Amino acid sequence: MSAACRYSCADCRYRTPRLPRERGARQLADHYCEKHADALPAGRAELVPTDLQAIRGCLLAALALVLFLLLAASCVHHIQSSPRPGAHVQEESWKQPTNTAC
Ligand SMILES: [Zn+2]
Repeated sequence: MSAACRYSCADCRYRTPRLPRERGARQLADHYCEKHADALPAGRAELVPTDLQAIRGCLLAALALVLFLLLAASCVHHIQSSPRPGAHVQEESWKQPTNTAC
């Protein structure tokens, strides 16, 4: 899988669309020949993730979000089920009824 690049011209605001590296570099060179014939080609290349890489990144972010929600739900359940600090557990005394009839 090759990443796509977007090239920017150093002498104007021209930017190539997202293209494979070789095609983007050739398109920037063509731009220099057409618009800046007396200058040496210069600029910068911006690495742009392909759609598959972007989808993979979204899936990882969604997985991290689901794990975070599960952890948060587990913590909320634990807090609700544990006794509150300072709360006293009341013990009920139970006495076995005495059977005096016998
Ligand atoms: Zn230019």
